[in-house]
Amino acid sequence: MSGDLTRLTAHAMAVALRSGETSSADLAAAHLGRIEAEDHGLHAWLAVDPPAVLAAAREADAALARARAEGPAALAALHPLHGVPVALKDLVSVRGMQCTAGSRILEGYRAPYDAHVTERLRAAGAVILGKTNMDEFAMGSSTEHSAYGPTSNPWDLDRVPGGSSGGSAAAVAAFETPLALGTDTGGSIRQPGSLCGIVGMKPTYGRVSRYGIVAYASSLDQVGPFARDVRDAAALLHAIAGRDARDSTSAPVPVPDGLLHLPASDDEAAAGLRGLRLGLPREYFVEGTEAGTEARLREAVAVLEASGAHVDEVSLPHTDYGLAAYYIVAPAEASANLARYDGIRYGLSVRVGDVLGDYLATRGRGFGPEAKRRIMLGTYALSAGYYEAFYGKAQKVRTLIKGDFDAVWASGVDAIVAPTSPTVAWKLGAKLDDPVAMYLSDACTLPVNMAGLPGVSIPAGLSDGLPVGLQLIGRPWSELDLLRIARGYEGITATAAWRTVEPHGLAELRAVGCPTPTERAAALGAGDR
Ligand code: GLN
Repeated sequence: MSGDLTRLTAHAMAVALRSGETSSADLAAAHLGRIEAEDHGLHAWLAVDPPAVLAAAREADAALARARAEGPAALAALHPLHGVPVALKDLVSVRGMQCTAGSRILEGYRAPYDAHVTERLRAAGAVILGKTNMDEFAMGSSTEHSAYGPTSNPWDLDRVPGGSSGGSAAAVAAFETPLALGTDTGGSIRQPGSLCGIVGMKPTYGRVSRYGIVAYASSLDQVGPFARDVRDAAALLHAIAGRDARDSTSAPVPVPDGLLHLPASDDEAAAGLRGLRLGLPREYFVEGTEAGTEARLREAVAVLEASGAHVDEVSLPHTDYGLAAYYIVAPAEASANLARYDGIRYGLSVRVGDVLGDYLATRGRGFGPEAKRRIMLGTYALSAGYYEAFYGKAQKVRTLIKGDFDAVWASGVDAIVAPTSPTVAWKLGAKLDDPVAMYLSDACTLPVNMAGLPGVSIPAGLSDGLPVGLQLIGRPWSELDLLRIARGYEGITATAAWRTVEPHGLAELRAVGCPTPTERAAALGAGDR
């Protein structure tokens, strides 16, 4: 096959694999080559094992050859992800592979089993390309809280890719993988998707099993897909979703096959927008929303209206309390989840002589500053005498936030349109000294987690040359409807000039002597933390 294989979407790869125009081994080699040549300046990956990747790709090719010999029905029965490379955030367990969750405390730990999503990807025939960088234990919005150094944004290497799944988002945007998984507890798929100019979806709580995923805040965490277009994101969600008895919160809700049949035609996709009722929440233009972000969102709304959708302002009155309540609930659950890192069971083990000393020394050295901050906040919020005042109160606010969304759905609104992030990607280091400023970047995403709803961020143009995301939020289990709307928007903007703009950092990544993100951060004055 001529041309650069790394530029293909996963659905184009699926066609080329079936026709025999390319092989899974060729796809794997092309992506490994790009990672080898360019990731130095991006640092999206924490682990890549080329021989294992190529072996898995050859196995996928053998299965393809068998199916081809059997006939068209066997070929059609293969999952669209068969033979396609996929990256995993480094908190997804892959048997025998490292799983650091971006933390020193898990350095040297190897997962003894596959996560449910890993099993599902293997069953689909996908090729696991490697593990991507992330904020420690998924706590953060910039990937700068990784113990292994920051990741850069492919659009501007001096800027953050967002977080906490920044490695996955940057790798997809930089054509190092067509697909990646992230996790989203308060925005960690949608926000980096927005900042890197790609599609990122947080499914309904319970849609995807959390078995084998390093836990951050268990009542909020969901695994979800990153891709460069909506059809690819839908196919990846299809592969990983569904009930798993090992996660009691995973729901026995059927996974719609429609996820594999979103319209290929832009016109057909756009036609699906006619008559839709969309709500624009007035509270989502939070303080600090950049003019360029708001302008792109208003333009997106105008384009949706021109295609026959009705967009009305709606109100989600408790939005303002979301951030405060989230930063009680998430650290509280995190403090409980992180108690298991005791220096005995996993990874790092600092021995000083006695059991308590070992525990304190391991945790003191193993956790970074943000994880420690969350453990302290969470432990305090859960302590006797304060439990009701903080955790109990925050859970009540959570119910109110969910009630806001329920009222919008009851009024007949099909989906909510909103900004994903109030700002475009910021400079490395710019918010590291101000945790609250960092927390504010999730103001528009975290209510969705608090209410357990699905949300997707899709590219909606550029502001000052940097990507802006449009967020669509839906009722529980409405992923297919949301992705149809997303595909419709993609259809009507298919010929927009901004869609032809390449991430500006790509050329620089190829340059000899391109500094690493850590060197960039140091040069920007953000290095010595
Ligand atoms: N930035 C938010 C936090 O730090 C959300 C992170 C996430 O979704 N994992 O908690």
